[in-house]
Amino acid sequence: MTKKILIVGGGYAGFYTALGLEKWLARGEAEVTVVDPLPYMTYQPFLPEVAAGSIEPRHAVVALRRHLYKSEVVTARVTAINHAAKTATITPEVGEPWEFAYDIIVVTAGSVSRTFPIPGVADEAIGLKTIEEATAIRDRILANFARAANLPAGAERDRLLTFTVIGGGFAGIEVFGEMRSLASSLLRYYPTLKFDDVAFHLVEAMGRIMPEVSLKTSHWVLKNLAQRGAEVHLDTQLKSAVGGNVELSTGERFESDLIVWTAGVMANPVLRNTDLPTEERGRLRAQADLRVINDDGVIPDAWASGDVAAVPDLTGKGVGGMCVPNAQHAVRQGKLMAKNIVGSIRGDVPVEYKHENLGAVATLGLGIGVFQSGKISVKGLPAWVMHRGYHGLAIPMWERKIRVFTMWILNFFLRRDIVSIEARETPREAFVEYASRPKA
Ligand SMILES: Cc1cc2nc3c(=O)[nH]c(=O)nc-3n(C[C@H](O)[C@H](O)[C@H](O)COP(=O)(O)OP(=O)(O)OC[C@H]3O[C@@H](n4cnc5c(N)ncnc54)[C@H](O)[C@@H]3O)c2cc1C
Repeated sequence: MTKKILIVGGGYAGFYTALGLEKWLARGEAEVTVVDPLPYMTYQPFLPEVAAGSIEPRHAVVALRRHLYKSEVVTARVTAINHAAKTATITPEVGEPWEFAYDIIVVTAGSVSRTFPIPGVADEAIGLKTIEEATAIRDRILANFARAANLPAGAERDRLLTFTVIGGGFAGIEVFGEMRSLASSLLRYYPTLKFDDVAFHLVEAMGRIMPEVSLKTSHWVLKNLAQRGAEVHLDTQLKSAVGGNVELSTGERFESDLIVWTAGVMANPVLRNTDLPTEERGRLRAQADLRVINDDGVIPDAWASGDVAAVPDLTGKGVGGMCVPNAQHAVRQGKLMAKNIVGSIRGDVPVEYKHENLGAVATLGLGIGVFQSGKISVKGLPAWVMHRGYHGLAIPMWERKIRVFTMWILNFFLRRDIVSIEARETPREAFVEYASRPKA
Protein backbone atom coordinates (compact mmCIF):
# COMPACT_ATOMS: atom_id res chain seq x y z
CA MET A 1 0.00 0.00 0.00
CA THR A 2 1.25 3.48 -0.83
CA LYS A 3 2.35 5.24 2.36
CA LYS A 4 1.53 8.88 3.02
CA ILE A 5 4.49 10.86 4.30
CA LEU A 6 3.84 14.30 5.76
CA ILE A 7 6.79 16.71 6.09
CA VAL A 8 6.08 19.59 8.47
CA GLY A 9 8.31 22.46 7.34
CA GLY A 10 10.13 22.81 4.02
CA GLY A 11 13.23 24.63 5.33
CA TYR A 12 16.72 23.21 5.30
CA ALA A 13 16.02 19.80 6.83
CA GLY A 14 12.54 19.42 5.31
CA PHE A 15 13.63 20.44 1.81
CA TYR A 16 16.56 18.01 1.78
CA THR A 17 14.37 15.23 3.20
CA ALA A 18 11.82 15.77 0.44
CA LEU A 19 14.53 15.89 -2.25
CA GLY A 20 15.99 12.65 -0.88
CA LEU A 21 12.62 10.93 -0.73
CA GLU A 22 11.93 11.92 -4.34
CA LYS A 23 15.26 10.35 -5.26
CA TRP A 24 15.10 7.13 -3.22
CA LEU A 25 11.43 6.16 -3.18
CA ALA A 26 10.27 3.67 -5.81
CA ARG A 27 7.17 4.53 -7.85
CA GLY A 28 4.02 3.93 -5.79
CA GLU A 29 5.98 3.30 -2.58
CA ALA A 30 4.92 6.53 -0.89
CA GLU A 31 3.35 9.93 -1.52
CA VAL A 32 5.14 12.92 -0.03
CA THR A 33 3.37 16.08 1.12
CA VAL A 34 5.38 19.09 2.27
CA VAL A 35 3.52 21.71 4.30
CA ASP A 36 5.09 25.10 4.93
CA PRO A 37 3.50 28.55 5.34
CA LEU A 38 6.21 29.86 3.01
CA PRO A 39 6.42 28.76 -0.63
CA TYR A 40 10.23 28.64 -0.35
CA MET A 41 13.09 27.41 1.81
CA THR A 42 15.29 30.18 3.11
CA TYR A 43 19.06 29.96 2.93
CA GLN A 44 19.51 31.65 6.29
CA PRO A 45 23.33 32.00 6.16
CA PHE A 46 22.75 34.58 3.41
CA LEU A 47 20.46 36.79 5.51
CA PRO A 48 23.28 39.06 6.75
CA GLU A 49 24.36 39.68 3.15
CA VAL A 50 20.76 40.31 2.09
CA ALA A 51 20.54 42.85 4.93
CA ALA A 52 23.65 44.51 3.50
CA GLY A 53 22.34 44.57 -0.06
CA SER A 54 25.03 42.19 -1.35
CA ILE A 55 22.54 39.46 -2.29
CA GLU A 56 19.15 40.00 -3.87
CA PRO A 57 16.45 38.72 -1.48
CA ARG A 58 14.84 36.30 -3.92
CA HIS A 59 18.20 34.75 -4.76
CA ALA A 60 18.56 33.61 -1.14
CA VAL A 61 15.38 31.53 -1.19
CA VAL A 62 14.55 28.37 -3.13
CA ALA A 63 11.04 27.84 -4.52
CA LEU A 64 9.65 24.55 -3.19
CA ARG A 65 7.25 23.98 -6.07
CA ARG A 66 9.93 24.45 -8.68
CA HIS A 67 12.27 21.84 -7.26
CA LEU A 68 10.03 19.37 -5.41
CA TYR A 69 8.11 18.34 -8.48
CA LYS A 70 7.29 14.79 -7.28
CA SER A 71 5.95 15.95 -3.89
CA GLU A 72 2.72 17.73 -3.12
CA VAL A 73 3.57 21.18 -1.76
CA VAL A 74 0.96 22.81 0.48
CA THR A 75 1.39 26.46 1.41
CA ALA A 76 -0.18 26.48 4.86
CA ARG A 77 0.71 25.94 8.49
CA VAL A 78 0.52 22.73 10.46
CA THR A 79 -1.17 23.87 13.65
CA ALA A 80 -1.58 20.58 15.51
CA ILE A 81 -0.40 16.98 15.31
CA ASN A 82 -2.27 14.04 16.82
CA HIS A 83 0.20 11.25 16.26
CA ALA A 84 -1.90 8.73 18.20
CA ALA A 85 -4.56 9.18 15.50
CA LYS A 86 -1.96 9.93 12.78
CA THR A 87 -3.57 13.18 11.74
CA ALA A 88 -2.30 16.72 11.44
CA THR A 89 -4.33 19.90 11.30
CA ILE A 90 -3.39 22.05 8.32
CA THR A 91 -4.42 25.68 8.53
CA PRO A 92 -4.23 27.78 5.37
CA GLU A 93 -4.04 31.57 5.36
CA VAL A 94 -7.40 31.69 3.60
CA GLY A 95 -10.11 29.06 4.04
CA GLU A 96 -10.94 26.45 6.64
CA PRO A 97 -8.38 24.18 8.37
CA TRP A 98 -8.53 20.50 7.50
CA GLU A 99 -7.31 17.20 8.97
CA PHE A 100 -4.61 15.40 7.04
CA ALA A 101 -4.25 11.65 7.61
CA TYR A 102 -0.71 10.32 7.28
CA ASP A 103 1.25 7.12 7.81
CA ILE A 104 4.63 8.70 8.56
CA ILE A 105 5.32 12.16 9.95
CA VAL A 106 8.55 14.11 9.53
CA VAL A 107 8.84 17.16 11.78
CA THR A 108 11.31 19.73 10.45
CA ALA A 109 9.60 22.95 11.56
CA GLY A 110 12.87 24.61 12.61
CA SER A 111 13.23 27.30 15.22
CA VAL A 112 12.04 30.84 15.91
CA SER A 113 13.79 33.82 17.52
CA ARG A 114 14.01 33.38 21.28
CA THR A 115 13.39 36.59 23.20
CA PHE A 116 13.14 37.60 26.85
CA PRO A 117 10.44 39.82 28.35
CA ILE A 118 12.52 42.99 28.09
CA PRO A 119 10.37 46.12 27.82
CA GLY A 120 10.10 47.39 24.26
CA VAL A 121 11.72 44.42 22.51
CA ALA A 122 8.50 42.86 21.21
CA ASP A 123 7.34 46.25 19.88
CA GLU A 124 10.56 47.78 18.56
CA ALA A 125 13.04 45.05 17.58
CA ILE A 126 13.23 42.94 14.45
CA GLY A 127 14.58 39.38 14.21
CA LEU A 128 16.81 37.85 11.55
CA LYS A 129 15.28 34.50 10.66
CA THR A 130 13.37 35.35 7.50
CA ILE A 131 14.07 36.93 4.16
CA GLU A 132 11.44 39.58 4.90
CA GLU A 133 13.30 40.65 8.05
CA ALA A 134 16.64 40.84 6.22
CA THR A 135 15.07 42.91 3.43
CA ALA A 136 13.40 45.24 5.93
CA ILE A 137 16.75 45.80 7.69
CA ARG A 138 18.41 46.67 4.38
CA ASP A 139 15.63 49.05 3.42
CA ARG A 140 15.58 50.73 6.82
CA ILE A 141 19.32 51.46 6.71
CA LEU A 142 19.08 52.83 3.17
CA ALA A 143 15.96 54.90 3.90
CA ASN A 144 17.38 56.26 7.14
CA PHE A 145 20.45 57.57 5.37
CA ALA A 146 18.20 59.43 2.92
CA ARG A 147 16.09 60.83 5.78
CA ALA A 148 19.06 61.78 7.94
CA ALA A 149 20.77 63.59 5.07
CA ASN A 150 18.02 66.24 5.16
CA LEU A 151 18.33 66.89 8.88
CA PRO A 152 20.68 69.13 10.81
CA ALA A 153 22.96 67.50 13.38
CA GLY A 154 21.00 66.63 16.49
CA ALA A 155 19.04 63.97 18.33
CA GLU A 156 16.64 63.18 15.48
CA ARG A 157 19.44 62.58 13.01
CA ASP A 158 21.47 60.60 15.56
CA ARG A 159 18.55 58.27 16.17
CA LEU A 160 18.12 57.54 12.47
CA LEU A 161 21.82 56.76 12.14
CA THR A 162 22.18 54.62 15.27
CA PHE A 163 21.94 50.89 14.61
CA THR A 164 21.85 48.24 17.33
CA VAL A 165 22.25 44.48 17.29
CA ILE A 166 21.45 42.36 20.33
CA GLY A 167 23.40 39.09 20.53
CA GLY A 168 27.05 38.44 19.72
CA GLY A 169 26.67 34.91 18.35
CA PHE A 170 27.49 34.05 14.76
CA ALA A 171 24.37 35.54 13.19
CA GLY A 172 24.59 38.70 15.31
CA ILE A 173 28.22 39.42 14.49
CA GLU A 174 27.71 38.66 10.82
CA VAL A 175 24.77 41.02 10.42
CA PHE A 176 26.48 43.67 12.55
CA GLY A 177 29.62 43.56 10.38
CA GLU A 178 27.59 43.53 7.17
CA MET A 179 25.37 46.43 8.28
CA ARG A 180 28.48 48.44 9.17
CA SER A 181 29.93 47.65 5.77
CA LEU A 182 26.77 48.83 4.00
CA ALA A 183 26.63 52.03 6.09
CA SER A 184 30.26 52.86 5.35
CA SER A 185 29.74 52.31 1.62
CA LEU A 186 26.73 54.65 1.64
CA LEU A 187 28.67 57.65 2.95
CA ARG A 188 30.08 58.44 -0.50
CA TYR A 189 26.53 59.18 -1.72
CA TYR A 190 25.67 61.48 1.22
CA PRO A 191 28.08 64.41 1.36
CA THR A 192 26.19 65.93 4.32
CA LEU A 193 26.89 62.85 6.48
CA LYS A 194 30.25 61.93 7.95
CA PHE A 195 31.64 58.64 9.24
CA ASP A 196 31.33 59.80 12.86
CA ASP A 197 27.64 60.64 12.41
CA VAL A 198 26.83 56.93 12.19
CA ALA A 199 26.83 54.73 15.33
CA PHE A 200 26.83 50.96 15.61
CA HIS A 201 26.25 49.12 18.92
CA LEU A 202 26.29 45.38 19.55
CA VAL A 203 25.14 44.20 22.97
CA GLU A 204 26.32 40.82 24.26
CA ALA A 205 25.49 39.45 27.70
CA MET A 206 28.56 37.20 27.85
CA GLY A 207 32.19 38.24 28.13
CA ARG A 208 32.99 37.16 24.58
CA ILE A 209 31.50 36.92 21.09
CA MET A 210 31.18 34.02 18.64
CA PRO A 211 31.63 30.95 20.84
CA GLU A 212 32.14 28.88 17.65
CA VAL A 213 35.61 30.39 17.09
CA SER A 214 38.66 30.48 19.39
CA LEU A 215 39.02 33.29 21.91
CA LYS A 216 41.99 34.62 19.95
CA THR A 217 39.99 34.76 16.73
CA SER A 218 37.07 36.41 18.54
CA HIS A 219 39.49 39.09 19.81
CA TRP A 220 40.61 39.72 16.25
CA VAL A 221 36.95 40.21 15.26
CA LEU A 222 36.40 42.66 18.13
CA LYS A 223 39.47 44.65 17.09
CA ASN A 224 38.39 44.68 13.47
CA LEU A 225 34.92 45.94 14.37
CA ALA A 226 36.34 48.60 16.69
CA GLN A 227 38.62 49.85 13.89
CA ARG A 228 35.56 50.15 11.66
CA GLY A 229 33.70 52.28 14.21
CA ALA A 230 31.42 49.53 15.51
CA GLU A 231 31.16 49.31 19.29
CA VAL A 232 30.67 45.95 21.03
CA HIS A 233 29.35 46.04 24.61
CA LEU A 234 30.44 42.79 26.32
CA ASP A 235 29.07 41.59 29.67
CA THR A 236 26.13 43.89 29.00
CA GLN A 237 22.41 43.28 28.87
CA LEU A 238 19.64 45.18 27.20
CA LYS A 239 17.38 46.54 29.94
CA SER A 240 14.82 48.37 27.85
CA ALA A 241 14.11 49.33 24.26
CA VAL A 242 10.82 51.17 24.82
CA GLY A 243 10.19 53.63 21.98
CA GLY A 244 13.63 52.85 20.54
CA ASN A 245 15.34 54.28 23.64
CA VAL A 246 18.00 51.69 24.34
CA GLU A 247 18.96 51.29 27.97
CA LEU A 248 21.87 49.01 28.85
CA SER A 249 22.77 47.29 32.14
CA THR A 250 25.90 49.49 32.24
CA GLY A 251 23.67 52.55 32.54
CA GLU A 252 24.43 53.71 29.01
CA ARG A 253 21.46 55.01 27.03
CA PHE A 254 21.01 55.97 23.40
CA GLU A 255 18.21 56.20 20.87
CA SER A 256 18.25 53.74 18.00
CA ASP A 257 15.89 53.52 15.05
CA LEU A 258 16.85 49.95 14.18
CA ILE A 259 17.27 47.21 16.79
CA VAL A 260 18.06 43.76 15.42
CA TRP A 261 17.50 40.86 17.82
CA THR A 262 19.73 37.82 17.24
CA ALA A 263 20.13 36.55 20.83
CA GLY A 264 19.28 32.91 20.25
CA VAL A 265 16.61 30.62 18.88
CA MET A 266 14.14 28.14 20.33
CA ALA A 267 12.35 25.14 18.87
CA ASN A 268 9.20 25.96 16.94
CA PRO A 269 6.37 26.39 19.48
CA VAL A 270 3.99 24.42 17.21
CA LEU A 271 5.29 21.39 19.14
CA ARG A 272 3.12 22.49 22.06
CA ASN A 273 0.10 21.47 20.00
CA THR A 274 1.26 17.92 19.44
CA ASP A 275 1.32 14.68 21.41
CA LEU A 276 4.96 14.13 20.42
CA PRO A 277 7.48 14.16 23.30
CA THR A 278 9.69 17.18 23.88
CA GLU A 279 12.71 17.67 26.15
CA GLU A 280 13.36 20.46 28.67
CA ARG A 281 14.35 22.99 25.97
CA GLY A 282 11.17 22.36 24.02
CA ARG A 283 12.81 20.35 21.21
CA LEU A 284 11.46 17.03 19.96
CA ARG A 285 13.20 14.09 21.54
CA ALA A 286 15.00 12.10 18.88
CA GLN A 287 17.61 9.40 18.84
CA ALA A 288 20.67 9.37 16.61
CA ASP A 289 18.88 7.61 13.75
CA LEU A 290 16.42 10.58 13.75
CA ARG A 291 13.41 8.64 14.98
CA VAL A 292 11.34 10.37 17.67
CA ILE A 293 11.51 8.69 21.07
CA ASN A 294 9.86 8.78 24.48
CA ASP A 295 10.83 7.05 27.73
CA ASP A 296 9.61 3.71 26.35
CA GLY A 297 11.73 3.89 23.21
CA VAL A 298 11.00 4.63 19.55
CA ILE A 299 7.64 6.12 18.59
CA PRO A 300 6.78 4.35 15.34
CA ASP A 301 6.49 6.45 12.17
CA ALA A 302 7.65 9.75 13.68
CA TRP A 303 10.90 11.37 12.53
CA ALA A 304 12.53 14.70 13.28
CA SER A 305 15.67 16.67 12.47
CA GLY A 306 17.13 20.17 12.25
CA ASP A 307 16.66 22.96 14.79
CA VAL A 308 13.34 21.57 16.03
CA ALA A 309 14.90 18.32 17.28
CA ALA A 310 17.29 17.34 20.06
CA VAL A 311 19.48 14.84 18.20
CA PRO A 312 22.41 13.30 20.10
CA ASP A 313 25.79 14.38 18.74
CA LEU A 314 27.69 11.10 18.51
CA THR A 315 31.02 12.92 18.11
CA GLY A 316 30.65 13.88 21.78
CA LYS A 317 31.31 17.55 20.97
CA GLY A 318 27.75 18.87 20.98
CA VAL A 319 26.43 21.33 23.55
CA GLY A 320 24.76 19.23 26.26
CA GLY A 321 25.52 16.17 24.13
CA MET A 322 23.16 17.32 21.37
CA CYS A 323 23.75 18.61 17.85
CA VAL A 324 23.81 22.40 17.84
CA PRO A 325 21.16 24.11 15.73
CA ASN A 326 22.95 24.81 12.47
CA ALA A 327 22.67 24.22 8.77
CA GLN A 328 25.59 21.80 8.68
CA HIS A 329 23.50 19.39 10.75
CA ALA A 330 20.10 20.21 9.24
CA VAL A 331 21.26 19.45 5.67
CA ARG A 332 22.99 16.20 6.54
CA GLN A 333 20.25 15.04 8.86
CA GLY A 334 17.65 15.73 6.17
CA LYS A 335 19.57 13.68 3.60
CA LEU A 336 20.12 10.77 6.00
CA MET A 337 16.54 10.89 7.25
CA ALA A 338 15.24 10.43 3.68
CA LYS A 339 17.37 7.30 3.29
CA ASN A 340 16.35 6.01 6.73
CA ILE A 341 12.65 6.52 6.03
CA VAL A 342 12.86 4.68 2.72
CA GLY A 343 14.90 1.95 4.40
CA SER A 344 12.39 1.60 7.23
CA ILE A 345 9.51 1.24 4.73
CA ARG A 346 11.51 -1.63 3.21
CA GLY A 347 12.29 -3.18 6.60
CA ASP A 348 15.93 -2.01 6.93
CA VAL A 349 17.52 -0.80 10.16
CA PRO A 350 18.06 2.99 10.15
CA VAL A 351 21.60 4.38 10.20
CA GLU A 352 22.74 6.69 13.01
CA TYR A 353 23.65 10.28 12.29
CA LYS A 354 27.22 11.31 13.03
CA HIS A 355 28.95 14.39 11.66
CA GLU A 356 32.28 15.97 12.61
CA ASN A 357 32.02 19.75 12.62
CA LEU A 358 33.65 21.23 9.53
CA GLY A 359 34.43 24.52 11.27
CA ALA A 360 32.85 27.92 11.00
CA VAL A 361 33.17 30.65 8.43
CA ALA A 362 31.65 34.11 8.83
CA THR A 363 31.40 37.28 6.80
CA LEU A 364 31.98 40.58 8.59
CA GLY A 365 31.32 42.85 5.63
CA LEU A 366 32.69 43.25 2.10
CA GLY A 367 36.18 41.77 1.93
CA ILE A 368 36.39 40.78 5.61
CA GLY A 369 35.74 37.36 7.13
CA VAL A 370 36.91 34.78 9.64
CA PHE A 371 37.25 31.02 9.39
CA GLN A 372 37.98 28.59 12.21
CA SER A 373 38.41 24.84 12.09
CA GLY A 374 40.06 23.33 15.15
CA LYS A 375 43.23 25.32 15.72
CA ILE A 376 43.35 26.63 12.17
CA SER A 377 42.06 30.14 11.71
CA VAL A 378 41.99 32.38 8.65
CA LYS A 379 41.15 36.06 8.88
CA GLY A 380 40.38 38.99 6.60
CA LEU A 381 40.07 38.77 2.80
CA PRO A 382 41.03 35.06 2.37
CA ALA A 383 38.38 34.03 4.92
CA TRP A 384 35.79 36.21 3.20
CA VAL A 385 36.60 34.56 -0.15
CA MET A 386 36.22 31.17 1.57
CA HIS A 387 32.84 32.30 2.95
CA ARG A 388 31.58 33.30 -0.47
CA GLY A 389 32.97 30.17 -2.11
CA TYR A 390 31.49 27.84 0.48
CA HIS A 391 28.05 29.40 0.78
CA GLY A 392 27.75 30.23 -2.92
CA LEU A 393 28.12 26.52 -3.62
CA ALA A 394 26.15 25.37 -0.57
CA ILE A 395 22.85 27.07 -1.42
CA PRO A 396 20.66 24.33 -2.90
CA MET A 397 20.07 24.01 -6.64
CA TRP A 398 22.26 25.22 -9.48
CA GLU A 399 19.86 27.90 -10.66
CA ARG A 400 20.27 29.61 -7.24
CA LYS A 401 24.06 29.19 -7.14
CA ILE A 402 24.29 30.79 -10.59
CA ARG A 403 22.07 33.72 -9.58
CA VAL A 404 24.08 34.38 -6.42
CA PHE A 405 27.51 34.15 -8.07
CA THR A 406 26.39 36.23 -11.03
CA MET A 407 25.14 38.98 -8.73
CA TRP A 408 28.37 38.98 -6.76
CA ILE A 409 30.38 39.32 -9.98
CA LEU A 410 28.12 42.13 -11.21
CA ASN A 411 28.37 43.90 -7.86
CA PHE A 412 32.16 43.69 -8.05
CA PHE A 413 32.07 45.86 -11.17
CA LEU A 414 28.88 47.87 -10.59
CA ARG A 415 28.86 48.09 -6.75
CA ARG A 416 25.94 46.91 -4.66
CA ASP A 417 22.53 48.37 -5.30
CA ILE A 418 21.59 51.10 -2.83
CA VAL A 419 17.90 51.46 -3.65
CA SER A 420 15.50 51.15 -0.74
CA ILE A 421 12.08 49.86 -1.67
CA GLU A 422 10.64 50.47 1.77
CA ALA A 423 7.57 51.96 0.10
CA ARG A 424 6.53 48.43 -0.94
CA GLU A 425 5.08 48.13 2.56
CA THR A 426 2.46 50.71 1.58
CA PRO A 427 2.17 49.97 -2.14
CA ARG A 428 -1.28 51.54 -2.66
CA GLU A 429 -0.28 54.93 -1.29
CA ALA A 430 0.78 56.43 -4.63
CA PHE A 431 -2.38 55.17 -6.34
CA VAL A 432 -4.74 56.21 -3.54
CA GLU A 433 -3.32 59.73 -3.44
CA TYR A 434 -4.63 60.53 -6.93
CA ALA A 435 -7.43 57.99 -7.30
CA SER A 436 -10.81 59.46 -8.41
CA ARG A 437 -13.69 58.58 -6.17
CA PRO A 438 -17.45 58.68 -6.91
CA LYS A 439 -19.07 61.94 -5.73
CA ALA A 440 -20.82 61.60 -2.39
C1 LIG B 1 21.22 34.80 10.17
C2 LIG B 1 21.55 33.35 10.24
C3 LIG B 1 22.77 32.89 9.77
C4 LIG B 1 23.08 31.53 9.84
N1 LIG B 1 24.30 31.12 9.37
C5 LIG B 1 24.62 29.81 9.45
C6 LIG B 1 25.87 29.36 8.95
O1 LIG B 1 26.69 30.15 8.46
N2 LIG B 1 26.14 28.05 9.04
C7 LIG B 1 25.25 27.14 9.57
O2 LIG B 1 25.56 25.95 9.63
N3 LIG B 1 24.07 27.55 10.05
C8 LIG B 1 23.72 28.85 10.00
N4 LIG B 1 22.51 29.27 10.46
C9 LIG B 1 21.58 28.29 11.07
C10 LIG B 1 20.77 27.54 10.03
O3 LIG B 1 20.24 28.41 9.07
C11 LIG B 1 19.65 26.76 10.73
O4 LIG B 1 20.23 25.92 11.69
C12 LIG B 1 18.87 25.92 9.72
O5 LIG B 1 18.12 26.77 8.89
C13 LIG B 1 17.93 24.95 10.43
O6 LIG B 1 17.22 24.22 9.49
P1 LIG B 1 15.75 23.67 9.81
O7 LIG B 1 15.29 22.93 8.60
O8 LIG B 1 15.77 22.97 11.09
O9 LIG B 1 14.88 24.95 10.02
P2 LIG B 1 14.49 26.07 8.95
O10 LIG B 1 15.48 26.14 7.86
O11 LIG B 1 14.24 27.30 9.75
O12 LIG B 1 13.11 25.54 8.33
C14 LIG B 1 11.95 25.43 9.08
C15 LIG B 1 10.78 25.54 8.14
O13 LIG B 1 9.60 25.21 8.84
C16 LIG B 1 8.58 26.09 8.44
N5 LIG B 1 7.53 26.14 9.46
C17 LIG B 1 7.53 26.88 10.60
N6 LIG B 1 6.38 26.66 11.28
C18 LIG B 1 5.66 25.76 10.57
C19 LIG B 1 4.39 25.15 10.75
N7 LIG B 1 3.64 25.42 11.82
N8 LIG B 1 3.96 24.30 9.80
C20 LIG B 1 4.71 24.01 8.72
N9 LIG B 1 5.92 24.57 8.50
C21 LIG B 1 6.39 25.42 9.42
C22 LIG B 1 9.29 27.41 8.22
O14 LIG B 1 8.54 28.28 7.39
C23 LIG B 1 10.59 26.95 7.59
O15 LIG B 1 10.51 26.93 6.20
C24 LIG B 1 22.15 30.62 10.40
C25 LIG B 1 20.92 31.08 10.86
C26 LIG B 1 20.61 32.41 10.78
C27 LIG B 1 19.27 32.90 11.29
